[in-house]
Amino acid sequence: MLNFWGRRTRGAQVGDGTFTCPEEGGDRPYRLMLARRWFYVAFVPVVPMDVLGEYVECASCGEPFERSVLDLPTTTEQRDALRTVLRHAMVAIIRADERVTNHERHVALDIMANFGLDDYALIDLERDLAALEVEDLDGKAAMAGSMLTATGQERVVRACIQLAAADGAVSQVDLDLIATVGRSMGMLPARIKAMLDEVEPGY
Ligand SMILES: [Zn+2]
Repeated sequence: MLNFWGRRTRGAQVGDGTFTCPEEGGDRPYRLMLARRWFYVAFVPVVPMDVLGEYVECASCGEPFERSVLDLPTTTEQRDALRTVLRHAMVAIIRADERVTNHERHVALDIMANFGLDDYALIDLERDLAALEVEDLDGKAAMAGSMLTATGQERVVRACIQLAAADGAVSQVDLDLIATVGRSMGMLPARIKAMLDEVEPGY
């Protein structure tokens, strides 16, 4: 039985947002809570005492977590970063030889679909080919690379190679672009070289 008076811990909500719930493995709303000890009299908190720190409470399953779970990217953020780097890399590669074939368009859309990004349609690709600025390809690759596993990074490089080969010849410009993407994502140079060495260069 609880005492008539005493000290108890209570959480007060100080923020909210979306995070990846480690318990459920998907994007969920969370409440950022501040734990504080209160002095109770007659079961009513009357005097705030020491602050014990912040914690995160999943609004879906109710599990509490350390605040550091908020540093992990959400599924949506990972997906957006992947979509962005693929868009930039593909546009740069398709533009590299100054002609756009229907086969390249097909391969590009297939690649997006294989990554689960099948909402990226032909109209999006045409718009990107016409207007997307790809100067910050390395920045976009670095962002995506920080959220991808080594396997995920290799899948991106493999997709770039597949697209570069779609017009029948992988040029030196293509190879340089692909190496930039791999390096910016944080891949080891030796690993990138091994993947590119498997490619038959055509100039
Ligand atoms: Zn949860």
